[in-house]
Amino acid sequence: MKALSLFSGGLDSSLASKIIQKQGIQVEGICFISPFFNAKKAEIAAHELGIPLHIIDISTDLIVLLQSPLYGFGKGANPCIDCHVLMVKKAGSLMEKIGASFLISGEILGERPKSQNRWALDIVEAKSGWKDYLLRPLTAKNLPPTLPEREGWVKRENLLGIKGRTRRVQLEMARSLGIKSFPTPAGGCLLTDPIFSKKIKHLLKGGKLSLNEIELLKLGRHFLLKEGVKLIVGRNKIENTMILKLAIEGDTCLQAVDYPGPIGLLRKRDAGDEILLLAASITARYSDAPHARTKVEYFELPQKEKRYIEVIPVKDEKLETLRIGDR
Ligand code: SF4
Repeated sequence: MKALSLFSGGLDSSLASKIIQKQGIQVEGICFISPFFNAKKAEIAAHELGIPLHIIDISTDLIVLLQSPLYGFGKGANPCIDCHVLMVKKAGSLMEKIGASFLISGEILGERPKSQNRWALDIVEAKSGWKDYLLRPLTAKNLPPTLPEREGWVKRENLLGIKGRTRRVQLEMARSLGIKSFPTPAGGCLLTDPIFSKKIKHLLKGGKLSLNEIELLKLGRHFLLKEGVKLIVGRNKIENTMILKLAIEGDTCLQAVDYPGPIGLLRKRDAGDEILLLAASITARYSDAPHARTKVEYFELPQKEKRYIEVIPVKDEKLETLRIGDR
């Protein structure tokens, strides 16, 4: 008998896996990667527990889902209910492929008010197509018995009935099971980050998301110069290099000439010369140039032929009116 665990590497998914392992059932893990989260925590925890881990890239599905999640967003740009449905669907396919009999997850009824209430848990089961196959060992006694319990594959009496946000029981269990290192429950998904969320919601207003644009969102300071025209200014050397790598045809790259300063990437240069001047003055503002006429070089991809303009670095008051997000 084998079970497949939706395994984030957090304490809850580790405990859920342990509880099932203790019933003599072999457990494998599945975790997901996308531009918004990675598998590092899961890899470390799976290694510690000796669980084979399958890593599945859900970038394409998640980007499509972000355009209009059926059950909406959480506090940030996190479409958690739809995302859970997607993950359980993927897990169900893998379960069949590896010959596992059921799925387990570390979810707890009431632990997250919006995405782990009874309604949300039921939606995830029903919409994923794996109703009855998804066992939640930490909170099972608060829910109707699932197929693995009814069939006697797992003993319901050895499952738990944790409810709500307190972590007391989990921490006691971690101690008794010898699980010493585990990450804090929050964090790990960029879609819950307030600043990143603002940027991605802004991008969503403009239409379809692309991987390139999402990667750019992780870098630099972002400014909206006019509808559909953005400037991204690097915050350090590494970001400058990465921004240049992400520049695509039609983008304009700018940099102050006589003073050290960042790369500015203007997306949709065809906005006109006024916008180019504004982009140059913002790029100059973040260089070491004094508040005086400053030479800025720029080139438009794919030509790469350098041109020059002179601008006065923009004043901070104006800058703040153009900024997207809080940085
Ligand atoms: S926090 Fe992020 S990864 Fe987790 S369910 Fe929500 S959107 Fe998905």
